Amino acid sequence: MAILSRRNLVVSAGAAAAAFGLDGQLEFIAPANAQKAAAGSASGAEPKIQSFKRFKVGDVEVTTIYDGVWEKAHDAAFIKNASVEDTKKALVAGKLTDAHVPIPFTVTVVKVKGKYVMFDAGTGGQVQPTAGLLMSQNMKAAGIDPAKISTIVVTHYHPDHIFGLMAKDTNAQVFPNAEIIVPAAEQKFWNDPAVFTKLPEARHGLAKRVQATLGVWKNVKQIEDGAEVAPGIKAVSSHGHTPGHTCYLVSSGKKQMMVLSDLANVPALFLKNPGWHAFFDADASMAEATRRKLMDRAIADKLIVTGYHFGMPGAGTIAKDGTGYVFKPIA
Ligand SMILES: [Zn+2]
Repeated sequence: MAILSRRNLVVSAGAAAAAFGLDGQLEFIAPANAQKAAAGSASGAEPKIQSFKRFKVGDVEVTTIYDGVWEKAHDAAFIKNASVEDTKKALVAGKLTDAHVPIPFTVTVVKVKGKYVMFDAGTGGQVQPTAGLLMSQNMKAAGIDPAKISTIVVTHYHPDHIFGLMAKDTNAQVFPNAEIIVPAAEQKFWNDPAVFTKLPEARHGLAKRVQATLGVWKNVKQIEDGAEVAPGIKAVSSHGHTPGHTCYLVSSGKKQMMVLSDLANVPALFLKNPGWHAFFDADASMAEATRRKLMDRAIADKLIVTGYHFGMPGAGTIAKDGTGYVFKPIA
């Protein structure tokens, strides 16, 4: 499937829809914008975005790594039960630009017993021109050699989470020596021949690409809810955003961290308003119920959380905020 012929070329709307697995409207991103983002700033006037953040959860060393941002044009179909005006107001209240919806990408890596475990693999420069170019550079800056990643734990099969596993034109493995751990429910859904009757046309390319890669690679291991995927790391099913979306709980001593992935997208929108339904949720009502349940757990258990679209530093805690929640980034 055509995604981007060159990383910094403007992607066609059709290809972008296929790449993102979306069936809604998508915007064009000018190469000039792409370059600004690649330089580490979404806008020339804004301060440079942190390339990585390191902290500890018990004995576990955690590094969040910035992979760029999608400057999503406003679009009435983005949130089913909120208007573009509501969206802009929420962005401003969250101290974000309202010129577009800034959807950043952040990958979490943990070092457990001397081994690196990475949660999802970034966009691979194949989803948005403004993302992917920084990932390897920022990993290097964080002192992590991609060849030393021994395990990659996947949360779900949306392009921004898995395209970093596969080379752009050949689908060759980017991490051939790593074990790739995937939720069995997610693997089953996307590899089922009947998936094409369940998905809109725009998502067929994604399903085909999954079937040609994760579906056949020998280093892919499927796990069920509650499985221990690495020492002290357990799968927590959180279906809704996709049929097999899975969070992971990292425990060390009395400290715990939940890798939330896409339980909520941008916090200023979907944590503040947990009832807002984004069009990329496979089952938005289930996604909302799962979101509320796990956010309440994050508060009750005083969890550190990392969110794939929370923006750097990408890690923090959750608190109640009126009828919704607020994400408090770690210092
Ligand atoms: Zn995502």
